[in-house]
Amino acid sequence: MFPNPRIAASACLMGKPTRYDGGNKKSHILACQVSKVFELISVCPEVDIGLPTPRNPVALVQNFDVQLIGTIDNDKDITNEIVDYSRRFARQNAIICGLIVKASSPSCGYKSATVYRKSGKSRYGVNGLFTSAFLAAKPWVPIIDENDLQNLDMRIFFIEAALALHDFLSLAESHINSETLRQFHDRQRLFVASRSQRAQSALDKALLNNGTVQDKFKATKMLFLKTVKRRPTKKKQAKAMLGSLKTIKGKLAPAAYNKVSAMIARYGRGKTFNYPDVLESLKLVTLESGDALLKSQSCLNYSKPVLNLLKLI
Ligand code: SF4
Repeated sequence: MFPNPRIAASACLMGKPTRYDGGNKKSHILACQVSKVFELISVCPEVDIGLPTPRNPVALVQNFDVQLIGTIDNDKDITNEIVDYSRRFARQNAIICGLIVKASSPSCGYKSATVYRKSGKSRYGVNGLFTSAFLAAKPWVPIIDENDLQNLDMRIFFIEAALALHDFLSLAESHINSETLRQFHDRQRLFVASRSQRAQSALDKALLNNGTVQDKFKATKMLFLKTVKRRPTKKKQAKAMLGSLKTIKGKLAPAAYNKVSAMIARYGRGKTFNYPDVLESLKLVTLESGDALLKSQSCLNYSKPVLNLLKLI
């Protein structure tokens, strides 16, 4: 059986004393909430290549190429070791569906590290070397740092993308036939449509073409992995949900339809209702309607711990 959704996280965020100063940066939300949904794999590229703790810090420095070198001992260059390690880590952990990293770290940072230049201005907001090499190997894996994990919109984007990728990876590891492929397309419709209607139409076409199941799976893979990391806006999410709601309008009492429709529309305009509440309301009328396609949507079947993660904490 395919394992539970698995996420890799910087070891220091998981409370391990791996930092250069011997400390950690334990993240409460990671330990108490994320761990209830995902199996966490700890990764510390610096310690995993054999550096001691405590140790002298390293920094990204650009002369010609960007290098990861010691700030005290400038001859200590760990660039190649970290890049090799990152590629190996990506290869050996093919089923991880997300990465949670320490902000600003020259190894783990995501759009938050600094490259110092011997001549000229420093560059801010870049990826650490481990993150950069990992994403070069697996660009479709959703990634977030501990600061953005505190931001509700960023967290919702990350969690939904990671769960959708896990679903795809589970399919890829299974015995794929036309039925399992169709079921995957069906349950991810709302997820895809809330990111891109065009991607949804392309996926529909991929499923209906005359090729073999393997051809259809290859087309699905290409399209789905491109869509996983697209960021949905509230407006797009609401449009996709309203489109789904319309398909069951005839099976609902007008008052119930109008109530949920108004709630989704308000969510789309950035008003009061939070996302899990909207999902729960859509789920209730979906169950009432008995519509099999809508009932199968992955986002309408989130577990309690997932819904808790999608709320303000
Ligand atoms: S930021 Fe990355 S490299 Fe630095 S201690 Fe944490 S896990 Fe290790």
